[in-house]
Amino acid sequence: MRGCNFSPGPAALPERVLQQAQIDIWNWQQQNAFAGFGVMETSHRSADFMALVAETERFLRELLAIPEHYAVLFLQGGATLQFSQIPLNWLKTGHANYLVTGLWSEKALAEGSRYGQMTQVAEILENYRSIPEVATWHWDAAADYFHYCHNETVHGVEFAEIPEVSVPLISDFSSTLLSRPLDVSRFAMIYAGAQKNIGPSGVTIVILDPSRLPPAHPFTPTLLNYRTQMAAGSLFNTPPTFALYVIHGVLKDLLDQGGLAVQAERNRQKAALLYQALDALPLYENLVEVRYRSWMNVPFFLKESALQAEFLQEATALGLYHLKGHKQVGGLRASLYNAVSLSCVEKLVDFLESFSKTHV
Ligand code: PMP
Repeated sequence: MRGCNFSPGPAALPERVLQQAQIDIWNWQQQNAFAGFGVMETSHRSADFMALVAETERFLRELLAIPEHYAVLFLQGGATLQFSQIPLNWLKTGHANYLVTGLWSEKALAEGSRYGQMTQVAEILENYRSIPEVATWHWDAAADYFHYCHNETVHGVEFAEIPEVSVPLISDFSSTLLSRPLDVSRFAMIYAGAQKNIGPSGVTIVILDPSRLPPAHPFTPTLLNYRTQMAAGSLFNTPPTFALYVIHGVLKDLLDQGGLAVQAERNRQKAALLYQALDALPLYENLVEVRYRSWMNVPFFLKESALQAEFLQEATALGLYHLKGHKQVGGLRASLYNAVSLSCVEKLVDFLESFSKTHV
C-alpha cells in the first residue's frame, strides 16, 4: 500500500498512470514480448513517440480549452529558466512590470532585472500572507509585459481573480495549472513546471499567444527562442521523453475523469476540509488572508513549535509524508495537488485532530 504524499513537488502522481508506466518502461506499445523495448528506449523521432507528443498537446488543449491560435510548448529548464526566457523573448522597450507576492515571483523579478528595467507593481507585504490591494498597484501601460505568479507554492497565497491589465499578461502557474478550469485567453503567456499537477520534473509547459510575441532579442539563444520550439513542435532537440510519456498519461487520466471541472470540485472540497480543521483546532494556525488561501499549498504552524519534530515523526509513521514547510517559511505545509485523494486529506485531518487532542 502507498502512503499519502503531500509533497510540494515533485509531487504525487495518479496511481493508474504509475502502474501503466511500470509496464511501458519494460515494453511500450505492446511490442512483441521478445523484440520489444521500453518507452525510455524509444527515439523521440519515431512515429509512435511523435504521435504521443502531438496527442499530449491535444489533451492539454482540450482540458484547458486553449484558443486555437495559441502555441503549446513542452520545454526544459524548469519554471526557473522561464524567469530568463520571458525577458529574452518578450522585451521590446526593455521595460516590464512585476508583481511580487512571494518567493517565486521575487525570484522572477530578480532574474528578469538582469535583462531590463523592471518596475515593481506594488509594495511587498511582510511575510507574504496576502496580496496587495489592486488599488495600490502602479503599473506602466507602456511596459512590454506584466508578470505575476498565480499561486505562490511556498507561501500558500493564490490569486482569487486574474489581474486586469492592458499589457501582455504573463503568469507562473507552476503549482496550480490543471487544478481547475482557466480562461487562457486572458493571458499572453502561461508557464508551469510540470512536477506538481502535470507529471514528473523535467518538462515546463508554456502556452502563449504568438500574435503578441515580439521578435526575439538578437542574442536570445536559439533553443531559448520560443519560435524555435513552435516551429519544431517542441522537438527541436531531444526532449525528456519519459517525462512527456508520463504527462501524456496524466492528461489522459484527467480527461477520463471528466476534465478540470471535476478536479476543481474535488480540490475545493479537499482545501476546505483542511482549512476548516486548521481554523477549528487550537494547536494550529494558517496565517494567509482567507480570500487568498491557496487550494494547492497549505502552509501551517503549530502554535507550540517545539512539537514539530514529534508531529512529523507521528505523521510519517501513519504514512502521511512530506509535511515539512519550506525552509524560508518554516512550519508545516500540505500540498493538495490533483493526485492527492480526498481520503488522504481526511486521514491528515484525523491526524491533526488526534495530535491536537493529545497535545493541548
Ligand atoms: N515557480 C513556482 C510557483 C514554483 O513552485 C517553482 C518550484 N517549486 C518554481 C517556479 C521553480 O520551478 P523549477 O524548479 O521547475 O525551476
